[in-house]
Amino acid sequence: MSPTDRLKTDCSKCSALCCVVLAFDKGKDFAFDKNPGEPCRNLSGHSCTIHDKLPHKGFSGCVAYDCLGAGNRVIQEVFAGRSWQKDPRLMPEMMEAFSAMREVHKRIDLLRAAEALPLEPRDDQKRRDFLDYLEQHRWSGPELNEFEVGLALEIDIFFHGIGKYLAVTLSAGR
Ligand code: SF4
Repeated sequence: MSPTDRLKTDCSKCSALCCVVLAFDKGKDFAFDKNPGEPCRNLSGHSCTIHDKLPHKGFSGCVAYDCLGAGNRVIQEVFAGRSWQKDPRLMPEMMEAFSAMREVHKRIDLLRAAEALPLEPRDDQKRRDFLDYLEQHRWSGPELNEFEVGLALEIDIFFHGIGKYLAVTLSAGR
């Protein structure tokens, strides 16, 4: 799979994880409250029954949300296409894996964006190494559980270290 595809969301290969895992509060973006892990009442199977009229029905927050390909990757790569609807016991594991994969994909997004910075060759190599790993590694549930206390911290420290380039780029763009 090409790197570009990793951040491409494909709901047809997911099992509506965002419509179950994520919580939202009643307000301008959502028409009612929903708890994490509770299937949205507008969900039927893996499809949203109000998909074509989300803003009209008070769910503009759903239109704005993009998991950056984390949902389809978790379902296909970690759970081999299985669904929590056929096996509800999978839900806690899927919730954890989805949350962690969202963190993986957020960092893929950031590492790609950092390509535009005037990095030292050594830092750019490190950026590409992190990116290659996050995109190409075939994740398991236990590895995802470890991500935020391991590799994610290493990447965040790397970003802290290259912050000076970001400051230079921003001031040059003023
Ligand atoms: S309104 Fe539709 S898209 Fe939004 S969470 Fe519910 S089922 Fe999913």
